[in-house]
Amino acid sequence: MRTQVAIIGAGPAGLLLGALLQRAGIASVIVEQRSPEYVLARIRAGVLEQTTVDLLDQAGVGRRMHTEGLLHGGIELCFDGARHRIDFKALTGGKQVTVYGQTEVTRDLMAHRHAAGLTTLYEAEQVSVHGFDTATACVRFRHDGTEQQIDCDFIAGCDGFHGVCRASVPAPALTVYERIYPFGWLGVLSETPPVSHELIYTNHPRGFSLCSMRSPTRSRYYLQCPAEDRAENWSDDAFWAELRRRLDPAAAQTLVTGPSLEKSIAPLRSFVAEPMRFGRLFLAGDAAHIVPPTGAKGLNLAASDVGMLAPALAEFYAGSTHGIDSYSQRCLRRIWKAERFSWWFTSLMHNFPETGAFGQKMQHAELEYLVGSAAASTALAENYVGLPLEQ
Ligand SMILES: Cc1cc2nc3c(=O)[nH]c(=O)nc-3n(C[C@H](O)[C@H](O)[C@H](O)COP(=O)(O)OP(=O)(O)OC[C@H]3O[C@@H](n4cnc5c(N)ncnc54)[C@H](O)[C@@H]3O)c2cc1C
Repeated sequence: MRTQVAIIGAGPAGLLLGALLQRAGIASVIVEQRSPEYVLARIRAGVLEQTTVDLLDQAGVGRRMHTEGLLHGGIELCFDGARHRIDFKALTGGKQVTVYGQTEVTRDLMAHRHAAGLTTLYEAEQVSVHGFDTATACVRFRHDGTEQQIDCDFIAGCDGFHGVCRASVPAPALTVYERIYPFGWLGVLSETPPVSHELIYTNHPRGFSLCSMRSPTRSRYYLQCPAEDRAENWSDDAFWAELRRRLDPAAAQTLVTGPSLEKSIAPLRSFVAEPMRFGRLFLAGDAAHIVPPTGAKGLNLAASDVGMLAPALAEFYAGSTHGIDSYSQRCLRRIWKAERFSWWFTSLMHNFPETGAFGQKMQHAELEYLVGSAAASTALAENYVGLPLEQ
């Protein structure tokens, strides 16, 4: 088999890249180790920046997102038992975010790829990448019981944090920056109306909580929990009781509970591997960087990486290497700003026992400053709605 761009991974980064390349007339094949059902069953992100919405529109997959997605013009910060609204629209000249689940984004991209007759090889085993530092790159794997090879001009490593692409780069060529947080997020998805029409981020002495949603009838709630905790340790009743304790009285009273459709714990980590290009291999999305989910940046960064990679590859086929030569540097400029924001928001909203009473006082002072100062609120708002693709 031969193609122009072999994409490893059919998550949001890989699928969106494939759709953007198709628009540019560039052929791609996606190789994914899981089944389509498995990919669609993963419950992950749900807040899209305008940049991501624009890229999905550009790729031709925005129709359902515009019909079913929820436009949010702000969030609420809760501390000392009271909520304070950060008004994105007023603070950023009308910008908003769209609440539309990663699962739905993935479903739309999969349907688009299928309708366009583009090749995605699911359940590929023993995927390996070769020759990306030479003139002849290729991908090898086992599929349908036979050994296969795809020869290509470029390999796009969109295979997530645990993928094979970053792991195939010689260690001395990579610089890794990492921070692992001493807690995780216990998440519950339930078929219940959201407690509020906007997201509520709560700083509470018992730990952080987030009230989020996927639709007007489906809610997603999170609790800060110890990193070593297990979802099986939490009955639904225990989860709802703990969430109520961390909310303000009005939200605690109106919270509608129900059986969990999904319950899982996600660890929190900040991670960047530099650079993002090695000859004919490009890394994009979680393959190159991870953010804690507090700022809702993970999926958005995956989209913005491929939003820069697709035109860079189109530029290459039109005769210029400028785009692919500057890809890593341009992406990393944006990534580090999102890393900073996610780290800052995580540090502000979570309980860090090791910082003690002084740390809590600092958080409290910063929260009061944040909700009382237009300058501080604006800084939060403009980062949350998303910085421009290139700045
Ligand atoms: C549990 C969890 C919860 C999250 N919650 C949030 C959230 O609330 N908000 C937020 O903003 N972000 C969240 N994120 C982050 C967000 O979901 C990711 O940033 C986003 O999925 C990145 O997309 P991606 O395509 O780069 O990687 P992924 O979605 O990880 O996709 C990578 C794909 O590559 C495939 N793959 C892996 N290895 C191989 C291989 N060797 N060969 C072939 N295919 C391979 C995988 O099966 C997968 O389909 C969460 C992440 C996790 C793990």
